[in-house]
Amino acid sequence: MTQNSPTRFPVLFIGHGSPMNAIEDNIFSQKWQELGKSLPVPRAILCISAHWETDGTCATAMPHPRTIHDFRAFPPELYEKTYPAPGDPLLAEQCSRIITAAAVGLDRDWGLDHGTWSVLSRMYPGAAIPVVQLSLDRTKPGSFHYALAKELAPLREQGILIIGSGNMVHNLGRMRVMGADFNEPFGFDWALEANELFKKLLQERHHAELADYRSLGSAARLAIPTNEHYLPMLYAIALQREDEEISFFNDLPVAGSLTMTSFTIG
Ligand code: ZN
Repeated sequence: MTQNSPTRFPVLFIGHGSPMNAIEDNIFSQKWQELGKSLPVPRAILCISAHWETDGTCATAMPHPRTIHDFRAFPPELYEKTYPAPGDPLLAEQCSRIITAAAVGLDRDWGLDHGTWSVLSRMYPGAAIPVVQLSLDRTKPGSFHYALAKELAPLREQGILIIGSGNMVHNLGRMRVMGADFNEPFGFDWALEANELFKKLLQERHHAELADYRSLGSAARLAIPTNEHYLPMLYAIALQREDEEISFFNDLPVAGSLTMTSFTIG
């Protein structure tokens, strides 16, 4: 890991896919490992995971967040996996102070769900970097999330790595796994079409259109049957500055109806 902290940390959106990526060595988890080694070491991580939706916005504020195994019917090995990273109650309080779009509740019940720990256990296996999660207010539209995320910008200059963790194309009801390997690249036409549309809009910085995702047509509607895996992406792009490019990685479809497409900004 690089020890020199930049003045401004990059922002990530990670397509997390199957929880098995936490314990499987595959092209996606290998990339997460590489990222952890190549990025400067953050003071703390703020993660917006698809798997924590609340009424209102909350930040985890406990000193020792538990590892939440929020999935069913996976091998015992995955349930035995823990990620004992410390929390950062002061960072949670800071989020509450700097966010004006909502009154941010300080949560002491949640912990780290698999949207966060499946990725971080590969990026930072030592679990030494404090982690705070910020929840998704399930009652609010995309524009609200985008505006709220903009208020997190100062954190990037304070050694905080901000990560949105979801999947930009995510329709579990239409999944079709080809063969034994969930991660065998395969995407339905509509999934590929939506993925290309999102990438084009991201590259051309059409953020308002991305926030108003319900007006992006039929492929996008199939890609976002529910919005919890898409919204973390809005948190990442809201933090993009004029002078910052977006670069994609893990840009592959899996199980027909998901894409692992991820990006770094800055
Ligand atoms: Zn997920």
